[in-house]
Amino acid sequence: MWSLIIVAFMLYVIAGTCASIVYHRILSHRTLRLRPWFEYGLTILALPAGTPVQWVGTHRQHHLYTDTIHDPHSPYIHGFWYAHCGWYIYTHQKVQCMLYACLGSLRIFFDAYWRPRHGLEYNTHAQDVAAIAFYEWVSRPFNYAVIMVTSGVMYHAIFYLIWGITGLGVLWACFFIIYNLGDAVNSLGHSKHFDADAKSAAINSSLLNFVVMGEGYHLKHHQNPGLFNSSARRYSLSNGIINLWLALKLARINS
Ligand SMILES: [Zn+2]
Ligand SMILES: [Zn+2]
Repeated sequence: MWSLIIVAFMLYVIAGTCASIVYHRILSHRTLRLRPWFEYGLTILALPAGTPVQWVGTHRQHHLYTDTIHDPHSPYIHGFWYAHCGWYIYTHQKVQCMLYACLGSLRIFFDAYWRPRHGLEYNTHAQDVAAIAFYEWVSRPFNYAVIMVTSGVMYHAIFYLIWGITGLGVLWACFFIIYNLGDAVNSLGHSKHFDADAKSAAINSSLLNFVVMGEGYHLKHHQNPGLFNSSARRYSLSNGIINLWLALKLARINS
């Protein structure tokens, strides 16, 4: 049982690292550079969060039009559930949003088809990412679907063969937590009233920061998106991982 808990925790850390550091701070905001082989390998692990072109395009749209009608996922404009996960499937229906939020590890298979077909209107913001052959290739719908279905089957097969039905339950719970914590940055991370001075409804939350790999000081991030340690705190798991990469010369800070 302990081995299952340790593997599930590692999955959480890897997913958080790939989405928070690679998709967000590196591909979207270009705050760090990684060695290409390392960056591409981590991107494969980040794919459940979406294609790199779609993720970056949507996120840059969010920064350009934060908490306005053109923001793809503002709870201030669209309501909590649409901002949390309804925007992925174009619905404001609370029940549909809750069902989607509860798919857990099965969301890998739904998103395998859906994610590369969604949010394409923002891809123009990610032309620098699409210009890199590897990112363009993994963002194609067929290639993305093959990688996602293959990795989804592998995850479920490995967890079932080693830990049985309990393993499948923990895998489902693990992805339920990973997806919903990531989505909470968009929903809970913008949960105060619109602040005209800050030009957003973003918040700073120590709790959100702790559970979402240093992404919880979201107002600070909007005020200074170029910080590679977007939590602006020295001690956090994500900053520790980045410092390790810097020490190993796998990463360097973009000046
Ligand atoms: Zn935001
Ligand atoms: Zn950002």
